[in-house]
Amino acid sequence: MKPVRIPVDLGERGYDIVLGCQIGRLLGEEIKKVSRAEQIGIVTHPRIGRLYGKEVVSGLERVGFSPTVFKIPEGEQHKTILQVGRIYDYLIRHRFERSSVLVALGGGVIGDMTGFAAATFLRGISYVQCPTTIVAQVDAAIGGKTGVDHPKGKNLIGAIHQPSLVVIDLDFLMTLSHREFVSGLAEVVKYGVIQDPKLFDFMGNNVDAILKRDRKSLTYCIKRSVEIKAAIVASDEKELGLRKILNYGHTFGHAIETVTGYQRYKHGEAVAMGMMAAAKMADLLGIGNHTLVSRQERLLAALGLPTQFPRLNPLSVMKVLYSDKKVVGGKVHFVLPEKIGSVSVQKIERDSIERVLRGLCLSELKMKRK
Ligand code: NAD
Repeated sequence: MKPVRIPVDLGERGYDIVLGCQIGRLLGEEIKKVSRAEQIGIVTHPRIGRLYGKEVVSGLERVGFSPTVFKIPEGEQHKTILQVGRIYDYLIRHRFERSSVLVALGGGVIGDMTGFAAATFLRGISYVQCPTTIVAQVDAAIGGKTGVDHPKGKNLIGAIHQPSLVVIDLDFLMTLSHREFVSGLAEVVKYGVIQDPKLFDFMGNNVDAILKRDRKSLTYCIKRSVEIKAAIVASDEKELGLRKILNYGHTFGHAIETVTGYQRYKHGEAVAMGMMAAAKMADLLGIGNHTLVSRQERLLAALGLPTQFPRLNPLSVMKVLYSDKKVVGGKVHFVLPEKIGSVSVQKIERDSIERVLRGLCLSELKMKRK
């Protein structure tokens, strides 16, 4: 595959997303184009290190770098300030400078933490995203949102710090577990619902090929998603307007992840349930409609994603929703779909959220105002 270049048009903070293969070779060559760094640090998980570390390190060595590798334990439960502190220790130990570059080799957890370490170390050094999951390739690695979780909520601590480069290789996706792979597809469905009915239909018509990880189908899904994300980020870097639509399914999704301690569900699974909750909310409020709810449910279910809201205490969900960054003036901002390919951001009152949640949580617990 000849590398495809998708620019993120952000002026002096702009960068390319390069989609290609033979990551070892490609990554080094691309870093050379954007940086004169003498020192490169790769942050990854032990598992990804075992799978791809050698290839990535030797690729970088071939173009003259002498990279070092730092590993952090995998899992959302480790996306913490404590682990970022360990990255700082590593950077200080190896005498990283302002001109050094960090490479995030991993999924969204590695990308978010490495980006946050890069944003804050020496008041900001460069970093390159080398995403290895679908979630990271189509979403987390693009747009510069970095950060860590806090026990009281997901991504509560963070910074916007754009990478200097994103290098995507579809081959990484071949070693993902079935569950991780399917979980990532939720983010691709998201792009279909928020902006691209053609992508949504393509997924519906090619479920088997996608699940078999057919390269042609995957290339289409990933490339389209990346193009949509790149264009949205370029038009609204700081999430003052349009970029908010990328949170479709994430407000409920984050609440599900937080209430279940980030352990029970994969990020994409929580987003899938969150998208169903948002579509049902839109239907109930007369913004969306039932056809949209069932079309989305059919596609998510065909891909093997969960569509039913889990049995959770609605009070706990409410509490998390109200500690979210998207609460303004006592109303929670939700991205609600009007039809496939079109969503809007709505400020929803507490009463309406409670009504929707009561229906979703299937719980006997009574909602009580605090
Ligand atoms: P993840 O980073 O935890 O990776 C999932 C698992 O897959 C890990 O166990 C990892 O070791 C393994 N893995 C990764 N690549 C692999 C490969 N190629 N082969 C085999 N195993 C591999 O999870 P994720 O779903 O990639 O990312 C979720 C995180 O991304 C969340 O923390 C979420 O908040 C964040 N996120 C951030 C943004 C953003 O804009 N910054 C957007 C979306 C999601």
